[in-house]
Amino acid sequence: MEFDVLPVTRYKMNCSILWCEQTSRAAVIDPGGDLSEIVNFLELMELEPELALVTHGHFDHAGGAAQFAAMTGARIEGPHRGDAHVIARLEELGGKYGVPAQSFEPSRWLEDGDRVRFGEEELEVLHCPGHCRGHVAYFSAAKRQAFVGDILFRGAIGAWEHPDGDLPALVTSIRSKLFVLGDDVSFVPGHGETSTMGRERIHNPFVGEAAMANWRAKFGGMPDPATE
Ligand SMILES: [Zn+2]
Ligand SMILES: [Zn+2]
Repeated sequence: MEFDVLPVTRYKMNCSILWCEQTSRAAVIDPGGDLSEIVNFLELMELEPELALVTHGHFDHAGGAAQFAAMTGARIEGPHRGDAHVIARLEELGGKYGVPAQSFEPSRWLEDGDRVRFGEEELEVLHCPGHCRGHVAYFSAAKRQAFVGDILFRGAIGAWEHPDGDLPALVTSIRSKLFVLGDDVSFVPGHGETSTMGRERIHNPFVGEAAMANWRAKFGGMPDPATE
């Protein structure tokens, strides 16, 4: 499996394009907008889009999925059903921020532990609520590579200060679903630079070692599956 990252929309959302080298079939994670750039890339690389994978229902990530599927014939899978209510309101929410967005019903809502397939490649689905209820991450065990949307960033974590956000759930998702994949695993976040699980597990100011020690000292413990 190979992949490349295209920042799309004015939110510079990282759209990842993955492909199977044996079959040239591709999966596009979060076709949030600027669809012509995504389609140009696929054509230039002579890839056949098979799958549109959505990490969560926010318009910068999910807003272009319906149109991308219509343009290319790719099927949409994900996110988890917990984001169905956000996806149903994509037109309204995208419109508020000037991003054209369209709601959709995916071919498959995803559950924790599901596998998604394109060509001869397979990704594991990790349900990671906290930034929003239905957020999923995608993990290639073969490539030691994760695509985590707005759950975890280089030096930051996803926003939780909105009605679907939940800080304890977010911290639990990061530590019990992402960090346990292993320090060597690289990830593409929804925005900004890539990083590794190891770098964030140690240095992240919200969920790194120093931050977790602080939480424990102050509150007698935040969810910390690594030690509990
Ligand atoms: Zn988001
Ligand atoms: Zn985002």
